Amino acid sequence: MKFVVDAMLGDVARWLRILGYDTLYSKDFKDWEIERVARSEDRVIITRDVGLYRRARRKGLRAVLIEPGSIEDDLLTIALRTGIEIRFKPSRTRCPHCNTELVIIPKAEALSLVPSHIGTRYDTFWKCPKCGRVYWQGSHWRTINSIIDSVNRRLPSTY
Ligand SMILES: [Zn+2]
Repeated sequence: MKFVVDAMLGDVARWLRILGYDTLYSKDFKDWEIERVARSEDRVIITRDVGLYRRARRKGLRAVLIEPGSIEDDLLTIALRTGIEIRFKPSRTRCPHCNTELVIIPKAEALSLVPSHIGTRYDTFWKCPKCGRVYWQGSHWRTINSIIDSVNRRLPSTY
């Protein structure tokens, strides 16, 4: 499942990419651009804009309306409406910045790319083949994991 996310939901776009879903996002997206790319690339629209949501649905496009709330609420709504899994898979995560599939790189290569106190502390590093950014599961991952756990606890048990 692929997504296109409206300009108000940058956090949601970054999350969907980290979770491995092909997600288009731009701060400058116009509604018509979102509708066009949703149709041509078979993407689900994620939006906080009721007008865009209703227009998209009338045109037969798949869309999820996000009520104002926390990122946890947003992910829960998307999971319930689309059936996607909210799980982190190290082998299929995407660059939160540019949506490109990340590649796990050998630790030796990472050591040449990140500060030494980071290189020695972590074992798994990802690199974006497009924008060159390097990622690791730093201290903010505790928060990310607790949000993932909490979303899964709130999903129905048959899910
Ligand atoms: Zn990138």
